[in-house]
Amino acid sequence: MPEQKTLIKISELLQQAKQSLKQAGIKTAALEVRVLLCHVCKITEVEVIACPDRLIEGQQAEEFFNLVARRSQRIPLAYLLGVREFWGLEFHVNAHTLIPRPETEFAVEIAVLCARRIVKQSGQVRILDMGTGSGCLLISILHEVEAATGIGIDIDASAVELAGKNAKKLGVGARAQFKSMNWGDGLVETFDIIVSNPPYIQSDDLQGLMPEIALHEPVGALDGGTDGLDEYRKIIPQAHRLLNRRGVLVLEIGDGQAGDVLGLLANNHFHPLDSAQPVIPDLAGRERIIAALKVC
Ligand code: GLN
Repeated sequence: MPEQKTLIKISELLQQAKQSLKQAGIKTAALEVRVLLCHVCKITEVEVIACPDRLIEGQQAEEFFNLVARRSQRIPLAYLLGVREFWGLEFHVNAHTLIPRPETEFAVEIAVLCARRIVKQSGQVRILDMGTGSGCLLISILHEVEAATGIGIDIDASAVELAGKNAKKLGVGARAQFKSMNWGDGLVETFDIIVSNPPYIQSDDLQGLMPEIALHEPVGALDGGTDGLDEYRKIIPQAHRLLNRRGVLVLEIGDGQAGDVLGLLANNHFHPLDSAQPVIPDLAGRERIIAALKVC
C-alpha cells in the first residue's frame, strides 16, 4: 500500500507558527510566517493569503517549522532566507556579514553622485569599500555607475568570499575585486572615493540591542570600542593615505557621533563635502552619513 502523505492546511500552519513567533517576542509574527512559508513552498504571498485552505505536504511543513523554530531563537529573518534586498538588488547574506540596512543606501546615493561627477571629468572612477561585508556598498555603486571599478576589503575572509559571489550574481563581477585585509593595511594604490560603514556601536551598548543583532550578527561588524569611534580613528588616517587629492570619503555614522567624527576628519585634512550640510540625516532624522573631501 502506498504510504499516505500528511497534508496540512496553510491556515493551520500559519496559525501555529504565528503563536510560536509571538511567544518568542517577535512583533511582526504574522508577516514573517507568511514570508517563511512562501520561501519554503516557493509560492507568492498573494497565494498564501488567497488560498488558506490549500494543503501543504508534510515534508515542506517540517522544513517550515524548522525555520520557525530557528526564527524563535531570534535568528534574523534575512539569515534564514539567505538574502536581503538593498538598493533594489538582492544580496546573499550569512552570519559572517552584517545584514544591509536601508539607511546605508544614503551612503550609496552620495557616492553615486560623486562618482558620476568624477566619471564626467575623467571617464572613470576608482572606489574602495572598507569593511565591505556582503559587498552591498561597492556593488550597488558599481551597478549604478558603469564606468566605476573598485575593491572591497574586509577582515573576514568568509565575508569577502560572499561579497565576490554577490558581485558576480549582480553583474559587476568583472569590475569588482574583494580582498581580506585589516582596513587598508596591504593596499598601495589610490582611489577617488572611499566608502565605509564601519562598526560604530559602543561596546557597552551591544548587549542592549535586540537579540537578532546582539546574538546573531557578527560582533566584529558592530563593535566600535568604548566610545564607538575606535574604527574611525583607524579608517580616517588610512583613507587619507589611500585617497587621491580631492578624493571623497563617505562614512556612515551612529547617532550622536557626528561632532567627534567631523573632528577626526578635520584633524586629518578632510573638509565636509557640503559645508552647508556636513551631516546627512536618515529618514528618521538621525545623523547618518558624512561625506568629506581630502583637501591636502
Ligand atoms: N558594508 C557593509 C554594510 O554596510 C558591512 C558593514 C559592516 O560590517 N560594518 O552592510
